[in-house]
Amino acid sequence: MFHRTETRPVRVGDLTIGGSNEVIMQSMCTTKTADVKATVAEILRLEEAGCQLVRVTVNNREAAAAIKEIKKQIHIPLVSDIHFDYRLALAAIENGIDKVRINPGNIGRREKVVEVVKACKERGIPIRIGVNAGSLEKHLLDKYGYPTPEAMVESAMYHVGILEELDFHDIIVSLKASDVPMAIGAYTQAASRFNYPLHLGITESGTLFSGTVKSAAGLGALLHMGIGSTIRISLSADPVEEIKVAREMLKAYGLITNAATLVSCPTCGRLDFDLFSVANEVEKYIEKLKVPIKVSVLGCAVNGPGEAKEADIGIAGARGEGLLFRHGEMIRKVPEAELVDELKKEIDVIVAEFERT
Ligand code: SF4
Repeated sequence: MFHRTETRPVRVGDLTIGGSNEVIMQSMCTTKTADVKATVAEILRLEEAGCQLVRVTVNNREAAAAIKEIKKQIHIPLVSDIHFDYRLALAAIENGIDKVRINPGNIGRREKVVEVVKACKERGIPIRIGVNAGSLEKHLLDKYGYPTPEAMVESAMYHVGILEELDFHDIIVSLKASDVPMAIGAYTQAASRFNYPLHLGITESGTLFSGTVKSAAGLGALLHMGIGSTIRISLSADPVEEIKVAREMLKAYGLITNAATLVSCPTCGRLDFDLFSVANEVEKYIEKLKVPIKVSVLGCAVNGPGEAKEADIGIAGARGEGLLFRHGEMIRKVPEAELVDELKKEIDVIVAEFERT
């Protein structure tokens, strides 16, 4: 496990973000929040994929009213995304929201901020301050000329200051930019300026392919530095894909302890079977496993055993058959047609062993 930069722990429903806790994976609904049926259906799909926290937009009274019913039908904490309108924040809080994303400096008159903070305090609800390079305050753009990491951190400090002045400290901060170096700069500076948990994200990162690469580049650098208590991958795609990407990213850094990992080779001229199909089928099979096992699918027996040593179970293909390995030791040969089924059976055995211990 990598060292996490120490932050203040902040409760969100039954989760704790920050402190020494694991990095929380979150996503955001693409539905109209007022459409309870569609929103709940999407959240349940996200939950099944491993999403731990989900955000909905609260952009009108109907959306705020829907929170009560949505909350009854889901099993993970719900966050409301609110811009400017403090009445919507109050309505969301009244209806049982678990966390509010709102920038106090954008709410308007001090009394309105005081009212929102009071309601959050009474119910133990945290506030996420969401700084975005694309919507920095005018005075900061005048000062810096254009969005910079320094301007973003100054914006965050401005909003944090408003809450601290009201003795409110259940704060989570995000500093999102679609420009990767800018986001990395803003998050690293923020991590050295305050100890509130950081919600990581590369905003508007793109489609499933380009957005995944961009998010991995930015968030990977930050996670490697021990920065970040919760992550959201922003993709122009089904939000379930965001969770899948988040999981893989956290697995790559050893930040998830209950997920299975696939190791598969790129193939080369030694290959004698359809490895890509096998690897994809096995990946799908282990996707939802909650045990930290490593499964390898390798193209041939030349490098296979050595490369499979680290794996709990693996196969190495050969002409017309495959070799099954456990911790690098061959356990038996299997005809090619039965390879995937046999591997799945062995995976089930290992999972059962893990569950017994
Ligand atoms: Fe090539 Fe075999 Fe290595 Fe796969 S495991 S890349 S088939 S040498």
